Amino acid sequence: MLNMVPGEPHSKAVQRMKILLVISGILLVVQGCPPIIKHSEWTTRASSCTQSLSTSLKYAVIHHTDGNPCFNISACKRQLQNIQHYHMDKRGWCDIGYNFLIGEDGNIYEGRGWTKMGAHTRGYNDVSLGISIMGNFTSVVPNSKALNAAQSLIQCSASRGYLSSVYILKGHRQLRPTNCPGNALYQVIQTWPRWG
Ligand SMILES: [Zn+2]
Repeated sequence: MLNMVPGEPHSKAVQRMKILLVISGILLVVQGCPPIIKHSEWTTRASSCTQSLSTSLKYAVIHHTDGNPCFNISACKRQLQNIQHYHMDKRGWCDIGYNFLIGEDGNIYEGRGWTKMGAHTRGYNDVSLGISIMGNFTSVVPNSKALNAAQSLIQCSASRGYLSSVYILKGHRQLRPTNCPGNALYQVIQTWPRWG
């Protein structure tokens, strides 16, 4: 389907089409997945996790950290470091427990990421992606920046095949006896696609 400009040589039209394909490919990637702040960008403590996580996971599990909220990147990084130290030093884990964390600065932070099994929902870590919004959302909801980031991460995870195309969205409390992710946030996620 070459859109020839009259008088334009065929090779030039092919060249033009190749450039358009590259640009649309880049746009697709940008639309499909939000930027994610890498593990190495917020901590100097390397992960020692070895258990890998399979793809096409059945569940996306939403958590709150039940700690302080953060509204800018430096406060969020400090918060992430505190959680990582707690999980590694006090609980003896190989890294921060969640696969991803989200701040009310609107950023998504890589925890164990898509390829390493998390430690967030006992009995379900090998079949789920654990996404935690930083703060306590018992009586307040996360701001729209954080909620949008969480939804966009879930969509991206499904579009890249890390989550099954028929994944089920859960709040932590649906799988374990806990108040997590807080009453207010739990109300919100029940309105999201594929909650059940
Ligand atoms: Zn939780």
